[in-house]
Amino acid sequence: MRIVNTTSVYKPNVDLLFVMKQLKKAGFTYLDLGGMGYRCEPVNNHIFLTDQWKQWAYKLRDFAENEGMSFVQCHGVGWISSVATHPDHIAYRVVDLAAMLDVRWVVMHPVEIQGRQEPCDDEFFAEQNAEWFKPFLQYCEERDVGLAIENLPWPNANRVAPLKSLVERLDSSNVGICWDTGHAHYNVLHGELPPQAIREFGSQLVTIHAHDNFGNHDDHMIPGQGTYDWQAFMQTLREMNYTGDFVLEAHHQTQEASSEEERMALLVEMRKAAERIIM
Ligand SMILES: [Zn+2]
Repeated sequence: MRIVNTTSVYKPNVDLLFVMKQLKKAGFTYLDLGGMGYRCEPVNNHIFLTDQWKQWAYKLRDFAENEGMSFVQCHGVGWISSVATHPDHIAYRVVDLAAMLDVRWVVMHPVEIQGRQEPCDDEFFAEQNAEWFKPFLQYCEERDVGLAIENLPWPNANRVAPLKSLVERLDSSNVGICWDTGHAHYNVLHGELPPQAIREFGSQLVTIHAHDNFGNHDDHMIPGQGTYDWQAFMQTLREMNYTGDFVLEAHHQTQEASSEEERMALLVEMRKAAERIIM
């Protein structure tokens, strides 16, 4: 199993080439391009929002190639409900970027239909989200990029049945689930989801976001430093013959580090934690 780390271990305003250099130093060669949501905020004036974005993307690609690194995953942006109704939404450019970087999976969030407190009917959630995801999936497929839909710590989006039904409705080998361990664990307080529950996804599970917390907040901590049951999680992945990557999304502590030295120590620690867990 390959260990992948997100570029979100640095705050999103830090130059990505520097981030890549530091990740390489800490032992990471496979990358998840995170923080795109921030880069896409118009107030940030990011080069990705300008006509020069392709030159920027080529720089990233060339740098990765020279350093022996590769982008395997990318975090998408936007609410799929508005992405679906705005064909000029920046979310589509993120897919173009993913294609240029040879990324396999773009991770997107589903939308809760009735807010984040009350669940709606599972099938209604799946049907509505499938309608929104269809044009986006088509755009991904035309560029040979896969779409991975992520669970979120909200009523419908953190349970297996509605997500499984959503993927079934989209009916494509280019769509699957990105299971976020921290979001699943956060939900445990509300009486939900032991790690074993993901078994029901079977081959729909294509990637994961690995991070930890204490079950009461979405802390995005280094795996093993919270209370998530990693042993049960890994055992379940093995039983499912999971062939995807171990994608770290533990960006909280590194983003808050007070010095580059402290940050590097955390990155090295994170690498070791991931190695121990997947062993
Ligand atoms: Zn996530």
